[in-house]
Amino acid sequence: MKLKTIALTTVSTNMTPAQKLYEGKAKIIYTTEDPDILLAEFKDDATAFNAQKRGTIQGKGSINCTISSKLFQKLAADGIKNHFIDSPASHQMRVKAVKIVPLEVVVRNIAAGSLCKQTGLELGTILEKPLVEFYYKDDNLGDPLLTRDRLRLLKLATEEQVESLINLALQVNNFLQDFWKQCGITLVDFKLEFGLDSQQQLLLADEISPDTCRLWDMAQSDPNQRVMDKDRFRQDLGNVENAYQAVLQRVLQLLES
Ligand code: UDP
Repeated sequence: MKLKTIALTTVSTNMTPAQKLYEGKAKIIYTTEDPDILLAEFKDDATAFNAQKRGTIQGKGSINCTISSKLFQKLAADGIKNHFIDSPASHQMRVKAVKIVPLEVVVRNIAAGSLCKQTGLELGTILEKPLVEFYYKDDNLGDPLLTRDRLRLLKLATEEQVESLINLALQVNNFLQDFWKQCGITLVDFKLEFGLDSQQQLLLADEISPDTCRLWDMAQSDPNQRVMDKDRFRQDLGNVENAYQAVLQRVLQLLES
């Protein structure tokens, strides 16, 4: 994890002086009294295209934190170990401290985004089987797509870890496809991040939200109207806040039913 700004601050939930450990594009990470626990504060700031496009999505921090918290709890119940501990406020999540593996693990069920751009596949093409891809988590390099040999060359993960990451990503995909389907939403693709705990165990980390998943409303066939995720912001489709709010409502409704 990169250490950017170290500043003393007070976390409002427990009034314990905590250190700002890291500020990223969507979250601020604070230390807590317990070295094994960190506090993630989700921000309303939105960025796209490697931060070349910046903006604010009102309420996004709370929405993404709430959706992620619910999904992490469901995933843990399903046997997928992750960093979630609890959520002391709607925009805050207490998580197990992990060393983030510098890889973005992307799973795709339907062609969209960079896959279309780089391969010419038509947007919406259903993939015969889920595609798992690794990107190097490095903003300065523009998060490049990695081949298996480049992964090996850079020693970003052991062979065993790569196999585990693929298996975990596919398990998460099975879970999420079913979950979003029950919300009336098609899961197009998504990005996961993983971390290693003190026992070198791989834990699912970061977030799972409309910022990190492409989600299409099953009730809409129009290619713009169906979009319920960050593509609304990326492509200036409008109604960004409403879309995020609608995703949260569907998640809450499903969990209450
Ligand atoms: N994604 C993400 N963070 C990134 C890059 C991608 O959460 O830094 C997610 C993105 O929202 C989508 C999936 O990963 O659900 C695949 O993204 P893609 O490679 O198509 O890149 P994009 O078109 O978003 O640049």
